[in-house]
Amino acid sequence: MATLEIHDLHVSVEAENGPREILRGVDLTVKQGETHAIMGPNGSGKSTLAYSLAGHPKYTITGGTVTLDGEDVLEMSVDERARAGVFLAMQYPVEVPGVSVSNFLRTAATAIRGEAPKLRTWVKEVKEAMERLSIDPAFAERNVNEGFSGGEKKRHEILQLELLRPKIAILDETDSGLDVDALRVVSEGVNRVRETGEVGTLLITHYTRILRYIKPDHVHVFAAGRIAESGGPELADKLEEEGYEAYVKADRTA
Ligand code: ADP
Ligand code: MG
Ligand code: MG
Repeated sequence: MATLEIHDLHVSVEAENGPREILRGVDLTVKQGETHAIMGPNGSGKSTLAYSLAGHPKYTITGGTVTLDGEDVLEMSVDERARAGVFLAMQYPVEVPGVSVSNFLRTAATAIRGEAPKLRTWVKEVKEAMERLSIDPAFAERNVNEGFSGGEKKRHEILQLELLRPKIAILDETDSGLDVDALRVVSEGVNRVRETGEVGTLLITHYTRILRYIKPDHVHVFAAGRIAESGGPELADKLEEEGYEAYVKADRTA
């Protein structure tokens, strides 16, 4: 079972008036097969955690460790992380001009599997995954993210997740901007991947809405750059009722 271990992670960004510490000691362990929800107010550093794990160059690791089965993730390039099985669905995916969804997915699958998937079985695999996500077949020939609606971007994220089968998937605000139907389709995709027991999921979200469809094993409240509280699914119910006010207050008085 693959295990991602984050220990005392500190991360800074370069702001106008010098470096600014955003993550202030994050501890978290995610195992293959587990679903962890990370919830917290805007600006608490959730996306910074996601980008730092994916190796985004804007974020400087100033302390702590991240390992996947004991291997130092922070030493790996972005590509090496993907090959090792760490997947980040981007909150704002970038456009990839001139590259179709179909080619993009095949290139990614080749990088991760170490060999190109056989064309015939691959086309079938993609077609079936797209059907499950109610994606129009013409979508495969469109250029990645070019003119994608919010819902199409999210479906594309889940399509990647289903086809690439990472060990650890980081879904940052996959639920934001989705209507109820799209939210259901996207959640069903996440749940299908989850049922394989092969993927550990870090589900980052500001809202409790998606947790009606995806039941996390663990819930963590993120506040001011660290995990302020951890618990089971009942913690999400508490957040739904009480919001984040108590955590934000505690930080101000700290
Ligand atoms: P969340 O995803 O929880 O809303 P973020 O990780 O996006 O939080 O942001 C946490 C804090 O870090 C915010 O105050 C944000 O302005 C700041 N921040 C994040 N990325 C950058 C960056 N690249 N440059 C400057 N400040 C940043
Ligand atoms: Mg934000
Ligand atoms: Mg964010």
